[in-house]
Amino acid sequence: MKHFRKILVANRGEIAVRIMRTCRTMGIETVAVYSDFDRDALHVRMADQAVLIGPAPARDSYLNIEKIVSAARLTGADAIHPGYGFLSENAGFASACEEAGIVFIGPRAEVIRALGSKNEARKLAQEAGVPIVPTPAEHEFPKLIKASAGGGGRGMRIVRSAAEFQESFAAAQGEAERAFGDGTLLVERYIEGARHVEVQIFGDHHGNVMHLFERDCSLQRRHQKIIEESPSPAVTPEIRRRMTDAAVSLAQKIGYTNAGTVEFLLAPSGDFYFIEVNTRIQVEHPVTEMVTGLDLVRLQIEVAQGATLPAAQPEQMGHAIEARLYAEDPANEFLPSTGVLHVWQLPEASTALRVDTGVEEGIEIGVYYDPLLAKIIAHAGDRESAIRKLTHALRSLAAQGVQTNREFLIALLENEEFLAGRAHTGFQLPASVPVDEALDRVFCAVARIYIERSEQSRRSILPSIPPRFRNNPTAAPAMKFAIGSRDHAINPSNSVLEVLTSSNDHVDALVFHSQGRGVRYRFHICQHGTDYYVRSSLGQRHIQRLPRFPERTAAGQHQSANSPMPGQVLRILVAEGQSVEPGDALVVLEAMKMEQTIKATIQGVVRAVLVKAAEVVAPGQMLVEIESVEDANEHANSSAKH
Ligand code: ADP
Ligand code: ADP
Ligand code: MG
Repeated sequence: MKHFRKILVANRGEIAVRIMRTCRTMGIETVAVYSDFDRDALHVRMADQAVLIGPAPARDSYLNIEKIVSAARLTGADAIHPGYGFLSENAGFASACEEAGIVFIGPRAEVIRALGSKNEARKLAQEAGVPIVPTPAEHEFPKLIKASAGGGGRGMRIVRSAAEFQESFAAAQGEAERAFGDGTLLVERYIEGARHVEVQIFGDHHGNVMHLFERDCSLQRRHQKIIEESPSPAVTPEIRRRMTDAAVSLAQKIGYTNAGTVEFLLAPSGDFYFIEVNTRIQVEHPVTEMVTGLDLVRLQIEVAQGATLPAAQPEQMGHAIEARLYAEDPANEFLPSTGVLHVWQLPEASTALRVDTGVEEGIEIGVYYDPLLAKIIAHAGDRESAIRKLTHALRSLAAQGVQTNREFLIALLENEEFLAGRAHTGFQLPASVPVDEALDRVFCAVARIYIERSEQSRRSILPSIPPRFRNNPTAAPAMKFAIGSRDHAINPSNSVLEVLTSSNDHVDALVFHSQGRGVRYRFHICQHGTDYYVRSSLGQRHIQRLPRFPERTAAGQHQSANSPMPGQVLRILVAEGQSVEPGDALVVLEAMKMEQTIKATIQGVVRAVLVKAAEVVAPGQMLVEIESVEDANEHANSSAKH
């Protein structure tokens, strides 16, 4: 058996860091590759050697086969671990590694190629006697159209009637061509109320295949997993036996090597159907690690070195659950959120709580890569305790500077359907977290106290500047703040908050939730210009201080709809002179391989459409200019006078 001395990790973010951690424990040196954008990233500092491979866009760096293979040659790496995403399921990359005499840590190139096509994978599954999702009869609905080469839940369409079919099919084809370079589609019966249950498999180079039980990933948004757990609350020992048998026989049939995941849909009837195989380590692999006590990356490396899989089937111990924390804005259709991660504090890790992350406080979250900030994984004896631990960990985690789905995740974990183990893939997730105006005002009151304190201390440090005359504090004017799109005017006196102590990074205060005695909380505050990031165990808020006498344009009377990320204009839905309401769709972009609708946030009139269909747009580029109704009226009045 050969031993790798050095492994190049062809990835970034949490998975690159996680792979390197295992390499360290095995005494294997690591090589990072990185783009310009990632020059200060954790994965680069963690590696023994690092090679710059190009500019930020993935196609120029993390997707560039030639540059990555030459970095491996340059550093003398014995093997390449591709992680997930990027080149992990690229058969061309696996064969380029083989040709360069470097071990690709994953299945053989032809296995990746065959299973990369959902059509081909269905055929192989059927030949192995594994039930596949039935192809629907012509008049059977609902149907699901998906891209054969697809992944990441993108480009799927549910069709509920014959009338919609043609149009959906054509649209899906275009989407598949643009996103995956292959317009081949397949049509399946849409299984209503199904759960997503997948089996972790492993094959070695000596003909052995084993499974490491199932994961339930039914909680999804747009067919993308958000929360994953093992064991599945819907799987009985009997279903587990049949499903893991099916996964293992498929793997044996195709001579599968290394780690893989066989995905199934489990119908309410207890029947299950194969959907696809992911030929790589999965994002959600930590839940399997926690219930089996195994290190799957270590197992991947050992298998690639030629080791034989352990003969004994591991046990499934307790319950593990993972949540994916993303930099995205639930209040704005979950669009990726960019900016600087000003506040980043993780809950204390233990054997029962794990946080996998590749980000650090102060780093920039850009537009170029998947906006995953961290995966938080909890393990306990039973499902309820594991969920409770995960919820508590999310509550104590601080992530500010970008919008995140943290509160959305907490709301999901507290949802009754989910707690009862009944949430299936069609489960209607809450659109966003409800706004608590009263609590928002408490946070704004804290910001006001903090500002007054720092103004006072500035005055006392600079005695030459006379303090502003203010003999009666209650006569001080209201301060204006905004949380999201809501404004709050905060007067100096209020009945909900009583300050105990304050410093330049926190305020301790009693909060009076209802009549009666207050409860003491510590509010941590981080200020950047007019932005205040305030957090306590009551929640986390990004508060913007607004000018006392707002200029009309500064208060958002004029809007420009900008592109949140690099993309391509698919459709323009408005014309110059058209009236729009908040929420009206303006432009549809294709970005991050998904359709993103850019909407108006004010009522007004479209002054200018600044892009054309098919145009490629840069992040921040202005797409449409809107003038508010009042401004437009003023405009009309003043021109009428002349
Ligand atoms: P997994 O099946 O491993 O849980 P997903 O199904 O969520 O992962 O995503 C499949 C792959 O697509 C992953 O390797 C992930 O890195 C990548 N991916 C997920 N979301 C996005 C996105 N918004 N943009 C680009 N790639 C993504
Ligand atoms: P991807 O390659 O994008 O991961 P999958 O085929 O694995 O695509 O499907 C992703 C998700 O879409 C599944 O987890 C499930 O929620 C849903 N889905 C896929 N096929 C079906 C189907 N035939 N019926 C119902 N839901 C489906
Ligand atoms: Mg899938």
